[in-house]
Amino acid sequence: MTITESDDAVVRTAAPRVVSGRKWNPSEAVQSAKSALYFRDVVGQVQHGRAGFGLFPKTPLWHKATSVQKRQLVVEEVRRQEEGERHAKAVSMAKQGRWTNWEGLEKKRLSWRDIWQMEGARLSFVLRATYDLLPSPQNLKEWYGEDPACSLCKVPASLRHILSGCTTSLTQGRYTWRHNQVLRELAAILEQRRTTTNNLPQTLIGQVNFINFVPAGQRQEHRTISKDASILQSARDWKLEVDLDKKLVFPPEIVATTLRPDMVLWSPTTKLAYVVELTVPWEEGVEEAYERKKEQIF
Ligand SMILES: [Zn+2]
Repeated sequence: MTITESDDAVVRTAAPRVVSGRKWNPSEAVQSAKSALYFRDVVGQVQHGRAGFGLFPKTPLWHKATSVQKRQLVVEEVRRQEEGERHAKAVSMAKQGRWTNWEGLEKKRLSWRDIWQMEGARLSFVLRATYDLLPSPQNLKEWYGEDPACSLCKVPASLRHILSGCTTSLTQGRYTWRHNQVLRELAAILEQRRTTTNNLPQTLIGQVNFINFVPAGQRQEHRTISKDASILQSARDWKLEVDLDKKLVFPPEIVATTLRPDMVLWSPTTKLAYVVELTVPWEEGVEEAYERKKEQIF
C-alpha cells in the first residue's frame, strides 16, 4: 500500500508483486479489507450493544483517512477478518472450541515474547488445557480405550472434573491449596502497593479527577492524568488483612460479623473499605461463580 498508493505516479507503477505462502495472499487480503472498510463507510456509524449512540469513539472514515491511517485501518481489518475466521472454525469444533463459550473473561494474549519466556511444560499445559487436549482419563478413553474413571473418586473424569469438579480433591483440600496460592500472590502485590502508598507524602491525597465540562465556545484544557492513579491514592493509612495462615477476623471497627472474605483493605480516616473475595472457577462457570459469591456477600 505504501507504494501502490504513493502520490508519485512513477512510484505507483513500480509496485512489486508481494509473494507469500500458499495459504494467504496479501493482495487479496488487502483488497477484501479495503472493500470491508468501504462498506463500513456506506453503513455509517452504528450503535454498539446497549451503549448509547455515539458513546464509542468514532473510527476514522475510509474516504477521509490519510494514507497512514488507511494503512493502519487495513492492518486492523485484516487482523479482524483472520480472527473472525479462526473463531468461526473454533465454534464448529465441539471439544476444542469450548473456549468460545467462556463469558466475561479477561482475554489473555500470548505474545511471542511471553511464549519464549514461559517454561516449556507450563506453556504446554496452558495450551492443551485451553483446547482440552490433556491426557485426562476421559480423553485417554477416547484415544486408547483406557479406563475413564478418576483415580481418586472413580467417577468418569473429564478435564473439568480433574481441575474443578472432583469431590475427593475438594475434601482433601487440593483446590483450597490452589486457591491459597493465587491469594498469596495477590496479597503480596497488594501489600507492596499498600506500604509504598502509605509512605507517600500526604499532599497527593484527594486528587480526584472530576469530569470537566467545557462551556460552549471555549477550548478544552489539556490535563495530565498521573499514570499511578489508583484507588489507594485517596488515603495514607491503608490496612490489609488476608485470610491466609491465620483465620481472618473482620475488622470490628468496620462492622461486627463472622463472615470471612479473602481480603479486607481499609482506611480508618477516609472510612473506605474494599473487600476481596477470590474464587478460582472453571472458565465456563465464571459468571455462575460470580453470582454465587455475590449472593453470599449480600
Ligand atoms: Zn474425582
